[in-house]
Amino acid sequence: MSEHNFIAGAWCGAAGGGSYERRNPARGEDLVGIIPRSGPADVDAACAALEAGWPEWAATPHERRVEILNRAADLIIERVEAYAEDLTREEGKTIGASRMEWKRAAANLRLYAGEAVRMRGETYPSADGLVYSVRAPLGVIAVITPWNFPISLPSRKIGPALATGNAVLFKPSEATPLTGRNFVQVLLDAGVPTDAIALLQGTGAELGHAIVTAPQVKAVTFTGSYAVGAAIHGAAGPGRRLQLEMGGKNACIVMPDADVSRAAAIIAQGAFNLTGQACTATSRAIIVGDNHDAIVARVAEIASTMVAGDGFDPATKIGPVATRAQYDKVRKAIAMARAEGLELALGSDSLPDLTEEQGGFFVTPTIFANVPTSSMLSREEIFGPVLAFHRTASYEEAVALANATDYGLAASIVTNDYATIERFARDIDAGIVKINSATGGVSGAAPFGGIKNSSNQTYREQAGLGVMDFYTTTRTVYLAA
Ligand code: NAD
Repeated sequence: MSEHNFIAGAWCGAAGGGSYERRNPARGEDLVGIIPRSGPADVDAACAALEAGWPEWAATPHERRVEILNRAADLIIERVEAYAEDLTREEGKTIGASRMEWKRAAANLRLYAGEAVRMRGETYPSADGLVYSVRAPLGVIAVITPWNFPISLPSRKIGPALATGNAVLFKPSEATPLTGRNFVQVLLDAGVPTDAIALLQGTGAELGHAIVTAPQVKAVTFTGSYAVGAAIHGAAGPGRRLQLEMGGKNACIVMPDADVSRAAAIIAQGAFNLTGQACTATSRAIIVGDNHDAIVARVAEIASTMVAGDGFDPATKIGPVATRAQYDKVRKAIAMARAEGLELALGSDSLPDLTEEQGGFFVTPTIFANVPTSSMLSREEIFGPVLAFHRTASYEEAVALANATDYGLAASIVTNDYATIERFARDIDAGIVKINSATGGVSGAAPFGGIKNSSNQTYREQAGLGVMDFYTTTRTVYLAA
């Protein structure tokens, strides 16, 4: 069995010997790897090693931690081609998107290396001696991530965790084990001590509870679905710090003054880029006024040129859906939409039933027009290249519809009217508000996070004031004269 776990300084398999196969979603005959199916015994072993090892990492001078993170960024750039190939093989996204994502990871590590030298405390007024605060790392931090951004998301969690002197227990998605392994390898090669990081591969169902309830784990930073985020919230208990970034049902509103072609390009990019598998992807287009049919036609025209295929093929614009489970979810959503009698403006309602061994989970851009607000397509996260168009009569109606979901991750509006833009930024229930650009695609230098069921809203991640706060605690010290 392949040794894809990293526990107590050694690459190893799961303690119980269990494993699973990960196959290329574009070509099922390509076996990506036999991956350990870890369980509670592996969590125990990893946590014990990290707990023993992290004080030394915490005591490592910050200049050295900065050096190591910058070195890891350099090594990523040197190895980007090989790492991007592994990512495309196991997740399906185009090779260009995989290269970009690894480069974002390198940039993230440099950002957090820089933040490490800015960690500081404060002094407070005192009538008697000195009162000041110091920052301290938390200890072992669990990092649990999804498959859709399998390196940019781990890097924006593991980077700040290590920069501030914590130890990391990393559980990547079961769909992207090679990228998880490559990231840990590059960190070790750059000089992260072997007892400051552990990697556990396997399914969340088998590992999740043991990780989030392990006594050594002081904080959990998670990105994934609402259902799993809610389970972690329930299991973790009150004494553990949690950062939960979850799903979305993102809307793009088009006002009557918008240019039809520009609006269509924004919608098509937001909905179908990365096969619609971005948490910030546009899944609803809400057209105010009379341009619904014209915009549907233009988006369909753009989307019909987006070739779905193997991410290694230079002609491919959108790769396969990443897993069989996800493919089945998309198929089911399309079948339900057809059963509801919805109007299919582009795409196919007869996707073949495929096994893991067959692979080829290709879904071409799928568009439903004139979708009523009662449809499941207007509420549920599908996470694939499926877009619902709604027609509304007014801005107020459009915003009410955009907000009529349990999620609140990203939203956008296309208009040139300043007063509407300013109003929208206040009215919309979303953590990320885009004006005249797609809901997807965010800056690496700005805070990221949703509201409502898209986030537990404790700490924003990625960048911005306070982004490092999740990874440290403060101690207030009273020093008598
Ligand atoms: P998922 O929730 O199924 O899995 C995410 C991770 O949690 C995986 O590593 C999985 O193994 C693990 N997990 C599963 N059950 C667990 C449990 N009981 N305890 C602990 N861990 C467990 O999500 P996914 O299918 O990998 O990714 C798609 C989802 O991620 C979508 O809902 C998408 O919106 C969301 N997402 C959100 C953001 C964001 O920043 N808000 C970014 C990317 C993806």
